[in-house]
Amino acid sequence: MKYIFEVLSSQIGYSRVGRILFSKERKLYISTPNIIIPIKISLMKQLNFIQEFEDHDLFTISKDIFLKIGFIKEKFKNTGFIFTSNGTFEKFQEILEENLNIFSEDNIISIIPFNVPTISISKEFAAKNISHHLLNVGKILKTYSDLNFGLSIKIFNYAELFNLYIPFIKENKNIKILNLVDLFDNFNNFRNILRIISKIKKDLDNNIILMASGRITPKCYPILVYLGIDLINSSYLLYLSAEYLYETIEHLIPIKKIKYLPCSCIACKGNLIKLNDNKQSPEKFDYLCLHNLITASNYMNKIKQYLTYEDYRAFAEKSSFDDMNLISTLKILDKDYFNYIRYETPLTQKSKKIKCLGPISYYRPDFREFRERIVKNFEPEPWTSMIILLPCSARKPYSESKSHKLFSSIIRKFPEFPSFQEFIITSPLGVIPRQVENIYPVNSYDISVTGEWDDEEIKITADMLISLIKKYNNEIPIICHLKEEYLEIVKRASTELKHKFYFCEINNKTTSDESLGSLRGLINNIKDFYTPKKNIEDSKYLSRSWIRKFIKILDYQFGIGSGRKIIPNGIKPTRINTYKQNNLIDLKTNQKLGVFNYSTGQINLTLRSLNRLIQAPLNKNSNFIVFNGENIDGNTLFRTGVLDYSPDLIPNNQVIIFDKTKNNIIGIGNLIVGSNFLKNSLTGRIVKITEKK
Ligand SMILES: [Zn+2]
Repeated sequence: MKYIFEVLSSQIGYSRVGRILFSKERKLYISTPNIIIPIKISLMKQLNFIQEFEDHDLFTISKDIFLKIGFIKEKFKNTGFIFTSNGTFEKFQEILEENLNIFSEDNIISIIPFNVPTISISKEFAAKNISHHLLNVGKILKTYSDLNFGLSIKIFNYAELFNLYIPFIKENKNIKILNLVDLFDNFNNFRNILRIISKIKKDLDNNIILMASGRITPKCYPILVYLGIDLINSSYLLYLSAEYLYETIEHLIPIKKIKYLPCSCIACKGNLIKLNDNKQSPEKFDYLCLHNLITASNYMNKIKQYLTYEDYRAFAEKSSFDDMNLISTLKILDKDYFNYIRYETPLTQKSKKIKCLGPISYYRPDFREFRERIVKNFEPEPWTSMIILLPCSARKPYSESKSHKLFSSIIRKFPEFPSFQEFIITSPLGVIPRQVENIYPVNSYDISVTGEWDDEEIKITADMLISLIKKYNNEIPIICHLKEEYLEIVKRASTELKHKFYFCEINNKTTSDESLGSLRGLINNIKDFYTPKKNIEDSKYLSRSWIRKFIKILDYQFGIGSGRKIIPNGIKPTRINTYKQNNLIDLKTNQKLGVFNYSTGQINLTLRSLNRLIQAPLNKNSNFIVFNGENIDGNTLFRTGVLDYSPDLIPNNQVIIFDKTKNNIIGIGNLIVGSNFLKNSLTGRIVKITEKK
């Protein structure tokens, strides 16, 4: 049986959308992430089960009898099967030999079991067990080198034992699934979980399918998917059903305690409620199995929907709020693994409302990426004569809010206004230079504003303010048009800055006539305090604000200096309203330089303008891929054609594709995966090509 897994898109955190090819002839693809539903004799007797799940994609079977039942294969024709044996290793070997023809068919893959009778064992004994297990598994993998297998992985609570598996997995290329059997049994061990997941991502081929088994309830599904798990084995729900527990996602409730059924699935409707007494019966167990599996499967559908079309991170946060271990998992992942996860998380998300739910959102990887990029890539304009600090607004981009329109009406009355640098203070993103207010996630985040800032928010923002202001000459004055709650930030930042701060008198609101009058007066008084070394560059066609924006957006995307290299002549934008985009046209040459997208706040450059970026001296060490060939065929660049790449590739960012000589750009596109994927994998989709030479 031939089958391949491929990543179709990277999503926030380690999460990803992919597909497993189960049959080339029948074009049978199974989408991931996905839930695997168990097939059991008791379930197969229920007509309801068969009706409910006949369209489901993926099942586990654990008895060899099912391999032989024609009915199953007929009923579930367009389905993938995973064979997981509950018996011993020797029993599995027997089944494999007896059913070799079945395992060679195209829609089934087997997972080599790792069943140890005792659970609690010493580290030394566990290590011995693993080594012995791998020795046996190695024989199977070599004997049946044409077959693909899943490998069961147990770590017995000792994260370091995972190291025993790494060289083995690298060596045996017919391992296509890692079945993590006991890793998620207890989310108390979130540090172990994160250690192992990051190791898998960092050291192993990213095309290996990650499967989670064991004591997993649907509540953990959102986090598991966030951690990059592709398949979740739902078999544990059968065990819970045998304990007469009813799954509501938030809780597992003993069925006898259920007074109000929160579900109207085929099992709940009319059936379960009638059996709602103290007695235990096989019938009740059957219905509970059905309800619990339906609930889990529906929840997975929701996850799949949100993963692509909503802010999935907010969903992962929201679904973890009432579980301390899940919250800790997210927090530690954000804190300790950012340098890995930043190369997996897309730089932007399109047209999504980003919700900040509180402290758990402060260090989201996309927020951290934004802050770090601004601090690294934002370069002061050499003509800056004054800095103005402003509060944020609920409406985004800020310029379109009522309050910012009022601020602008004052600031822009001064002919010198392009030499004023505005910074907007906000939580939890930090400090936003006016020029980048259209960039994701600044253009789309939402937070409850109460005026109360906690210490963490103050620290994040004050640190960012210090880093940005330090880039400016100490003599440049700073005007603060801020209300009380923001002043704590300025106070903290000012202790580390030499700049002089001037405070507007705020009467009631920052937008009151008196407050705006104070702003006008202050600007008038101090606008000539500092004379910059350079005058502002002239531009006739385009409002200076937009030129300033485009230059800083390009610096954000491609590094300091990129904006000026690409826009040396000025530009005129033509708006393509239906697409919410702007064409950027070079003022002198009339050539199209790129397209500005309002939904992401990013500029997609043309091949021609990217040539300006790499002009001599050639020092392009970022955002590139070297392709093994002179021309790119098709719309997708695959890993096999990649010779070299820069270490800073982030999904969704634009990438330059060089030919072998690295002197010519032969194409550009948007990254599907990041540099970590490239480092570890020999196959897979890498770039969606947008333009070719
Ligand atoms: Zn139900």
